[in-house]
Amino acid sequence: VPISNIRNFSIIAHIDHGKSTLADKLLQVTGTVQNRDMKEQFLDNMDLERERGITIKLQAARMRYVYEDTPYCLNLIDTPGHVDFSYEVSRSLAACEGALLVVDASQGVEAQTLANVYLALENNLEIIPVLNKIDLPGAEPEKVLREIEEVIGLDCSKAIFCSAKEGIGITEILDAIVQRIPAPLDTAKNPLRALIFDSYYDPYRGVIVYFRVIDGKVKKGDRIFFMASGKDYFADEVGVLSPNQIQVDELYAGEVGYIAASVRSVADARVGDTITHYSRKAESSLPGYEEATPMVFCGLFPVDADQFPDLRDALEKLQLNDAALKFEPETSSAMGFGFRCGFLGLLHMEIVQERLEREYNLNLITTAPSVVYRVNSVNGDTTLCSNPSRLPDPGQRKSVEEPYVKIELLTPKDYIGALMELAQERRGEFKEMKYIAENRASILYELPLAEMVGDFFDQLKSRTKGYASMEYSVIGYRESDLIKLDILINAEMVEPLSTIVHRDKAYSVGRALTQKLKELIPRQMFKVPIQACIGSKVIASEALSAIRKDVLAKCYGGDISRKKKLLKKQAAGKKRMKAIGRVDVPQEAFMAVLKLE
Ligand code: GDP
Ligand code: MG
Repeated sequence: VPISNIRNFSIIAHIDHGKSTLADKLLQVTGTVQNRDMKEQFLDNMDLERERGITIKLQAARMRYVYEDTPYCLNLIDTPGHVDFSYEVSRSLAACEGALLVVDASQGVEAQTLANVYLALENNLEIIPVLNKIDLPGAEPEKVLREIEEVIGLDCSKAIFCSAKEGIGITEILDAIVQRIPAPLDTAKNPLRALIFDSYYDPYRGVIVYFRVIDGKVKKGDRIFFMASGKDYFADEVGVLSPNQIQVDELYAGEVGYIAASVRSVADARVGDTITHYSRKAESSLPGYEEATPMVFCGLFPVDADQFPDLRDALEKLQLNDAALKFEPETSSAMGFGFRCGFLGLLHMEIVQERLEREYNLNLITTAPSVVYRVNSVNGDTTLCSNPSRLPDPGQRKSVEEPYVKIELLTPKDYIGALMELAQERRGEFKEMKYIAENRASILYELPLAEMVGDFFDQLKSRTKGYASMEYSVIGYRESDLIKLDILINAEMVEPLSTIVHRDKAYSVGRALTQKLKELIPRQMFKVPIQACIGSKVIASEALSAIRKDVLAKCYGGDISRKKKLLKKQAAGKKRMKAIGRVDVPQEAFMAVLKLE
C-alpha cells in the first residue's frame, strides 16, 4: 500500500483495563489471525507473561483493513505493561503516530493510564480515547470520559465506547485509526534511519530485530550499521510481522518490520538504537536512546555448589535475550560462589529468578534486593555500591547518596490517610495532593527507592483493599544518613544479610530482623545466637534454643509410614536451605528484611 495508507499505532492502558483483549479482537476482526490460531491473547506470547497477566516483551502485528473500499495497512506495536520497562514503552511509542488510550469504564483513570499518556504526549502521538468494558453493569463511560478530560486535558468528544470482550465498537476503533491517526511522513529518499523497538534472540538466526523505518529504506542483503553499538552486519532476512514473520524484499519509510542479521546478542541491537546503512550513514541517530541502567541488585547462589557452572551458563543464555540483565561473580565466605545480578526493577528481577528456576532447573538462594548507592569517599572519589556488605567503613566515607523516586498514587478518598501513613513510614516527602474526581485523589511523594523495594506495593494494595494504583520514576540521587547493619548467626557474619538502613531506623530494623530470623531459622541441635550489629557494636540479639529430642522420637516405633512421611517432609523443607557454618538457613530468611513490621 502507499505510505498514505499506513497507520502505526500502540495501545496504552493501565493493567487489566483490556489492552491484550482489544489487541486480540483487532487481529481477529481484520482476519490477521484466524479464530483457531488464537491462543488466549496472541500478543503476550511468553508463558510467564500469560500467567501473570502482564505484558513484558513487545511484539508487533501488521493488519490489513479496508476502509471505504481502500485497503490500509495498520501496524500495531504492543507495549509492555509495567513501569520497569517504561523505556521500552517510550521507544515503542516513538515508532508510532498514534495510540489508543484504553480505560476501563468501570474503573476510571489509574496511575499507569497517566504515566502512559504522558509518554504518548511526549512523543506527539494522536490519542484516541477508548472506554472499554461497557458491557459491565458497573460501567460508567460518561463519567470516566469526563475524568479523562479533566485529568489529562484530552478532548473526549470523539471517544469510542467499546467492549473488547463482546466485540462492541471494534470497527469504530479501526475506522478511527484510519481517520484520525496521521500517515507517516514520506522520507524514503533520505539516508536510512530505523528505530529498534524490540529484539529477541533466536538460537538459529541470531537476534531478530523489530524496527520502524523512520527514514529511507532497507533491503535484504544490505550492509547495515547500528549507530549506538557501532557494529555492522548484513541483513540476511528482512520481513514484516503479520504477526508471524513473512519475508519481503524491501521496507520503506513508515513501515514496520524485522531484520535477521546474525547479531549474536540483544545487547548489540538494543531497543532505541538506530539502524542505518554502513556505506551511507545517517548524519545523526534518532533521539531517545538510553543505556540500560540496573536499579536493583541481588545475589544469586546455587543451593548446591556444584550448580555454579550451570547458573553461569543459564545467566549467559538469558543475557543473550535480555540486554538489561547484568551479572558478575560474587563470592562470600558464608555463601560460597554465586553472582551479583542487576535488574531494571523488582518485576524484572522476579522474572529472571523464576526463569532460572523453571527453565534451567536451578535451585537458588536469592538474597534481598538492594538499590545502588553512591559513596563519596574521604579522598574525593565517588564509587557505586550495589552490595550492602561492601559499603566502605565509616572512616573511609564522607557521605552516602541513594536513589530517589517520585511516586504518584491514585486512590479513592477514603484511603488517603492510610496511604499517607505508608509513605511517611517509608521516609516519603509529601509533595502534592489533588482531587482528580469527586471521590478520587492523586498524591505525589518523593521517597528513597530502597523503601519501595520489598513490600511497598503489597502494602499499598492491602491498605486500600486493592483500590489504589501507583507509578514511579527515578528522579536522581540524594544524600542520606545511611549506615550498614550486619547480622551474625552463631557468631559468624552472614554478608548477604547485611543491609543499609537509615540511622533513625537502625535499632528498630535490627530488633525486628533478629526476631524475624529467629522465627524463620529452624532450631538446631545447639544454641544459636542471632545478632544485629553496627560495626562491632551489637544492637539487638536473639537466640535459638537447642532442640533437645530427636523429632523422630515423637513417632512410635511401629509407625513406619508416618516416620517416612516425616523424613520426606524434612527433606523437602531442606531443599532451599543454605548451610552457614553449622546452621541451615532457609531461603525466606534471606528475604526477611523486606517483610519487617
Ligand atoms: P491488559 O492487562 O490491559 O492486557 O488486560 P486484559 O486484556 O488481559 O484484560 C483484563 C481482564 O479484563 C481479562 O479478564 C479480560 O477478559 C477482561 N476484559 C477485557 N475487556 C473486557 C470487556 O470489554 N468486558 C469485560 N467484561 N471484560 C473485559
Ligand atoms: Mg495484557
